[in-house]
This record gives sequence, structure tokens and C-alpha cells, in this order.
Amino acid sequence: MAMYKCIGCGAALQSEDKTQPGFVPANRMQDEDVICQRCFRLKNYNETPDVMMESGEFMTMLNSIFEKDGIVLKIIDVFDFKGSLIPSFNRIVGNKRVIAVINKVDLLPKSTNMNRVISRAKKMLADEGITAHETITISAIKGHNLKALLDIVSKESKGQDIYIVGTTNVGKSTLINKLIEDSTGEKDVITTSNIPGTTLGLIDIPISETQSFIDTPGVVVDSQMTHFISPKDLKVIMPKKEIKPKNFQLNEGQTLFISSLARVDFVKGERSSFTVYASDKLKIHRTKTETATDFYSKHYDTLLAPPEIESPILIEDTDIFSFRTTERSDILISGLTFVSIDEGVEVDVTVPKGVEVSLRPSVF
Ligand code: GDP
Repeated sequence: MAMYKCIGCGAALQSEDKTQPGFVPANRMQDEDVICQRCFRLKNYNETPDVMMESGEFMTMLNSIFEKDGIVLKIIDVFDFKGSLIPSFNRIVGNKRVIAVINKVDLLPKSTNMNRVISRAKKMLADEGITAHETITISAIKGHNLKALLDIVSKESKGQDIYIVGTTNVGKSTLINKLIEDSTGEKDVITTSNIPGTTLGLIDIPISETQSFIDTPGVVVDSQMTHFISPKDLKVIMPKKEIKPKNFQLNEGQTLFISSLARVDFVKGERSSFTVYASDKLKIHRTKTETATDFYSKHYDTLLAPPEIESPILIEDTDIFSFRTTERSDILISGLTFVSIDEGVEVDVTVPKGVEVSLRPSVF
């Protein structure tokens, strides 16, 4: 059989695997001037496709940006700090200035201390060896603080290009569309280089004669809870509006299930409040630790659903994180929830293997 190539990127066309370069639905294969689905999305929707971190494309992306001049907007999902980190991020940065942009703050309760959110983000980045020149909280969806962001961008970029970098789902596309609208006054800007020369799409969105926003592919990282559930259920676990915290007074020897996806055991300590910040669609269930495993095996797909999972993912292949708090703290379960707990509490947190769990001083 003759091998056809995408006229956009040159990848060999195939209809078997959507995640691989050159994918085109079988019924389009015979079309004239056929382009692969990635190039189609780039061309028509200004959308950069995601890249898997272990892929060669990811390395190509790192290398292609490293030497360029410009500044980097690093987008962080306030609801998923750890899942927002890109391994090897410093390879992208090179000598560029980094502006940390903490997105989705509309999800946090209004009373949240934003200065604390900013200082925790700075600390997390510093722990990864990244110095953010400026850090700002925004809501791309609500347009909150975008004017301030554009002011920072114009001050820091000094006419150079602005690379927009983030893991998948942090809100990169939403932000870019808003920024284009705000900086050019146009709603549907057509990109100039929408068919890239390689399989990797960096989209160039000019905002002046000499300066562009450069949209980079979203990086898929393994620590996100999203790997364990379907795209449909992802909508369930991602909060859509300002989170209403749920408060539980627990004694040691009690366990909270955060739907079927995580389990928090109160191992030791005085009676304490556990405040759960999560999508209101998720069921939070309190039970006794000694019977928790049994309870979970029986009810993971009934009382603890949605999301619908195929097997009890908290029984085998799990990671257990143990913490003891020395001040009021938030347990962060990547992409799922934060749970605020008091000082002097010992907890074990069980999650499917690979999901990140960490502790930080509380922002609430
Ligand atoms: P990308 O993969 O980084 O390009 O992320 P998207 O822009 O596609 O956004 C991922 C999800 O986050 C979508 O469901 C968006 O509606 C949502 N999202 C993006 N920005 C915000 C925001 O500022 N607030 C809230 N609540 N959701 C957001």
C-alpha cells in the first residue's frame, strides 16, 4: 500500500492510533490534500496538541525553545499545583524570565488569602529550581487580572516573544484566546504559521510587527488524577464554580473517602476539623479506619461514585503518603482536592500509584 504523508507536517498518515503523529480518521484518508488531525486542529482552532512527556516530541519542544529569546508565562492550575509542574522546565526557560501565572482562582472561596497562594506557588517553583520574576493570580475564564497580566507582560518582555507554557488542562487555551482578544481586540485571530514545519506545533500569534505570543503544546504529566478516569468523569472531578468547602470533625481512627479516588486516614491526634475543597459533585464519605478497606471494596462503584471507575483502584497499586502537621496545613491531592487539617495531626493518604500528594502550610 502506498504511504501517504500529511501535507502539513510530513508525518506518515495512519488511522490506527489517535495519540500518534499522522492520525487521520479512516474516512478522510482518501481526501485530496489530506492533513492529519493535529494539523487540522492547529489550522482551524489555534489549538496546540498535547505531547506526552516521554515522547521525542517533548524533547524537540524543549530544545526548540531553549535557545530562543523571550519571556515565559508558566501557567499553573491553582487547583493542581503539582500537576502543573513540567519536568525539565528549566530546559525550556534557558535565560528567559519566568512569569508564574496562577490560573482558575475563581474556584477558591472568596475569603482565600491570595498572598498566601502566591507565596506557596513561589515556594513550590523555588523547590524545583525555578525563580519566578513575577507571580500573579488570574482567572482566564472570568477575565480576572488579565489587564494586570498584560501590563506585566509588556513591561517584562521588552518587545521579545512571549512563550506560553503549561501542562495539559491548566487553562492555556482559554487564557490565550482571552489574551488575543484583549491585546488585539479581535475574537478569532487567524494564526500566521498554523501549519508547522515539523510534527511539533508551536503556534505563533503576532501581537505587533515584531512580537508574538507563542503557544506551546500542553504537556501530559503522569501525576494527574486524570489518568485514572475517563474524559467524561474528568468534568465531574474538576470543580466548575467557587468551591464550597465541606467540613468534618474527625477523631483518630476515622477515614474520609474522597469519592472512590483517594482515602485520608486520621491516624493520630486530638479531635480535628478536616475541610475538603473539591467539586460539589464528588461524594465525601466518613467511615471507621478499621473497616474502611472492606467498605471501599463493597461500595467503590456505588456509594462512592461518580466518577465511574472499573476496578477498586485504592486496594492494589497504591501509594500511601504519611504526614504529621506542625501547623494548620493543606493536603494537596493532585487534580482532585485539597484537605485542610489542624496542627498536630497524623494522616495517611492513599491514592492510585503515581498520583502526587503533598503538604503545605494552609492558604485558608
Ligand atoms: P489547556 O489544556 O491548558 O489548554 O486547558 P483549557 O484551556 O482547555 O482548559 C481546561 C479546563 O479548565 C476547561 O474545562 C476550562 O473551561 C477550564 N478553565 C480554564 N481556565 C479556567 C479558569 O480561569 N477558571 C475555571 N474555573 N476553569 C478554567
